[in-house]
Amino acid sequence: RHFNFCAGPAAMPAPVLERARQEMLDYQGRGLSVMEMSHRSRDYMAIAEQAEHDLRDLLSIPNNYRVLFTQGGATQQFAALPYNLLGQGGTANFVHTGIWGSKAVKEARHLFGEAGVAASSEPNGHTAVPRPEEIRLSPDAAYLHYTANETIGGLEFDYLLGNTRGGMARPDGVEVPVVCDMSSSILSGPLDVSRFGILYAGAQKNIGPAGLVVVIVRDDLLELARADMPSLFSYRALAEAASMINTPATYSWYLAGLVFQWLRQDVGGLDAMQAINARKASKLYAAIDASDFYSNPIAGINRSRMNVPFMLADARLDEAFLAESEQAGLLNLKGHRSVGGMRASLYNAVPEAAVDALVDFMADFERRNG
Ligand code: PLP
Repeated sequence: RHFNFCAGPAAMPAPVLERARQEMLDYQGRGLSVMEMSHRSRDYMAIAEQAEHDLRDLLSIPNNYRVLFTQGGATQQFAALPYNLLGQGGTANFVHTGIWGSKAVKEARHLFGEAGVAASSEPNGHTAVPRPEEIRLSPDAAYLHYTANETIGGLEFDYLLGNTRGGMARPDGVEVPVVCDMSSSILSGPLDVSRFGILYAGAQKNIGPAGLVVVIVRDDLLELARADMPSLFSYRALAEAASMINTPATYSWYLAGLVFQWLRQDVGGLDAMQAINARKASKLYAAIDASDFYSNPIAGINRSRMNVPFMLADARLDEAFLAESEQAGLLNLKGHRSVGGMRASLYNAVPEAAVDALVDFMADFERRNG
């Protein structure tokens, strides 16, 4: 297997794929694949419950939070969130730090006409996140949404926005819930879930295969939904049906469960994962900073640990860099089409050896072309 730096769908932990391969045709002597099981069967229910149990354990999710395993991608949540939280009026507020956040704003406006921008990093070209004192909720804010890690720009918050009750105060002192898109950073390290009203993540980076979204929602927020929403969007309905209103993404959910087991047993939990991720990111940023041949524009404290965009000083070399890196077994280093250049995604499943190989390749490429 080659080293895969894809931003999503991302690399999967090799031991998880190996276990899935072993169980693919015959799950633990049952004579069928998990893919072929009824989601209501005893065996599948056990798989689903174990996955939730392991996720709760990894993130120390408090009892008053529900965990939903739903579908439609993180993008669907851009619509589901205002439906679930605007039942008592008000507007969605956003901290805008890049492309994913702007898509969330656009969807809220498309559906409900208004959305407030409580702070934005647009003036600095999304190279540093707004500081806490710059965030101003509108007087009618019903919730605040932000993107913990902007996957395309490689910009990550260095702090949590929510207070110890998972809220933030409006100018009139009323506290509203803080909602976070954690698609590209969930499980990269330990997290205080109580600092959020809701957090959610598309699976295809640190959780498992695409087709699944994990939503973690504080249970009092299940009462704030609009009456006119599609029933499949309803967090309350999903919570009441244990995420099985309809057929869930059963195989992705099962593989997510194997990833959670891998994190717990093989990696040793999220503190250990965080330490590995910190080493990986700092090695790559150090290599970029040590050379004039490569660059990354993001302010030090907001450099993403998961997605490292970098430019070559001479963009005419981009194609050669991509072709040669692929030949060297370093896959998917092309930057997002809106940004250009390169991007190395260093999600949990990317081993440290992959970063070592990339850094060596970069030095060699510079020697030959610099
Ligand atoms: N939010 C973030 C931070 C992302 O990185 C992505 C996808 O890359 C999305 C949302 C959209 O996810 P999906 O493709 O699951 O809709």
